[in-house]
Amino acid sequence: MSKATGWLTEKLSNSMSIGRKLLGSRPGFKVLMLVFVPVIAVLAMFSQAGCAIVINQEVVAVASDRGDAEAVVQNYITSLEESSDLPVSVGEEIKYRPAWRLKTDKPEEIRRQLAQKLDHQFGATGIYVDGKLVVSIKDKVTGDQVINKLLATYDNSGQWDVDFKQNVEIKPVQVDNVKLMDVEEAVEYFRFGGQGVRTYQVKDGDNLWDIASAVQLPVDELVLSNPELQPDTLQVGQEIKISRTTPLVDVITTYSDTRQEEILYRVQEKVDDNLFLGERKVIQTGKPGQREVEYQITLENGVEINKEEIKEEIIVEPVHQVLAKGTRKLLAFRGGNGRLAYPTGGGVVSPFGSRWGRSHLGVDIAANHGSPVVAAEAGTVISAGYQGGYGLRIDISHGGGVVTRYAHLSSATVKSGQNVERGQFIGRAGSTGNSTGPHLHFEVIVNGVHKNPSLFI
Ligand SMILES: [Zn+2]
Repeated sequence: MSKATGWLTEKLSNSMSIGRKLLGSRPGFKVLMLVFVPVIAVLAMFSQAGCAIVINQEVVAVASDRGDAEAVVQNYITSLEESSDLPVSVGEEIKYRPAWRLKTDKPEEIRRQLAQKLDHQFGATGIYVDGKLVVSIKDKVTGDQVINKLLATYDNSGQWDVDFKQNVEIKPVQVDNVKLMDVEEAVEYFRFGGQGVRTYQVKDGDNLWDIASAVQLPVDELVLSNPELQPDTLQVGQEIKISRTTPLVDVITTYSDTRQEEILYRVQEKVDDNLFLGERKVIQTGKPGQREVEYQITLENGVEINKEEIKEEIIVEPVHQVLAKGTRKLLAFRGGNGRLAYPTGGGVVSPFGSRWGRSHLGVDIAANHGSPVVAAEAGTVISAGYQGGYGLRIDISHGGGVVTRYAHLSSATVKSGQNVERGQFIGRAGSTGNSTGPHLHFEVIVNGVHKNPSLFI
């Protein structure tokens, strides 16, 4: 039994009990009818057919007719849409059905009931990051503005390629209330809405103001986030916290940058057998070149994360340094092993070069009086005899302008013009000539120039 019918039945039974009270007993039936019929008539006259507005199986109001009911409901929804500037959708289907009422609800009352009972949502727009709703905004135009603003932050030229690292979408969303973010609020929310700390690693030549500009934060905020920081003594590799929050989206910027760079020269070593082993000579001085390089630079939230060379043009070729390196092994000829044989038993006790203000033309090798001395390499004896301060001296020519000399000898067993073999016994050590004690004075002369014998023995 509907509410309206129940109400009517109740009224009728009330009327009958009034009739019984008035008329008392059985003979009063006619009288009862006389009273009852007019009551019905009066009730019928004053109550009227209305239209119930039913939401979620509950009559929330009764309008005078279906047309009025629908108009009031539509009017209410329109007013919601106008005040929010958003489309409104209702959660429950609104039903209409006929109802009898003595008195129907006025439009204001119907609206008040609708405000309480009608479940409704606003059709807003959401910005989703990787499928998750992050902010609600009015519409797609606003969403596009938010996205463009976030991207433009990291596009200094206005022409760079900017995109989000995450999948960012603008999609419709139903919201319960109309507290939506405007463009500025949404941009701020994205930029600083997350939690966590990002760091920047100090590079060579950085100062705090450069870093602040690179990461788009005020210097003050950097200092605030890095209380231990000494702006004047930044260390390369040092980590600086660049925000106390992490953006909810990361902007990847890519652009190409053309830079001029120096090309380092190479050092080419060239074998030169006119130079002796261990000798070096710069034949051509190296000069750096210059090139123009196009890099593809990738930034994440304004910080360089990758640099890839995509094109290079050489403007000035570098000039290689050419270095001649001697390989001439003095006595490689005649089957020698490239080294001179050690002419006597002991070690070098006095080196080649300056000594006591005078140039020592050979090395002194420790030897006892009478120790055997051998030819350092095969050759021909060119002199054997007393030569002033050298005392008893033997010179052997090995060909190619190379001569070895043995001095202060106590005896010589070879004569001028005699051929000798490598390691052949030629005499004995002593202390003849200008000598302080028994030793072998040994020289290597190449084209008339004394060389350090230690390089050859
Ligand atoms: Zn000497």
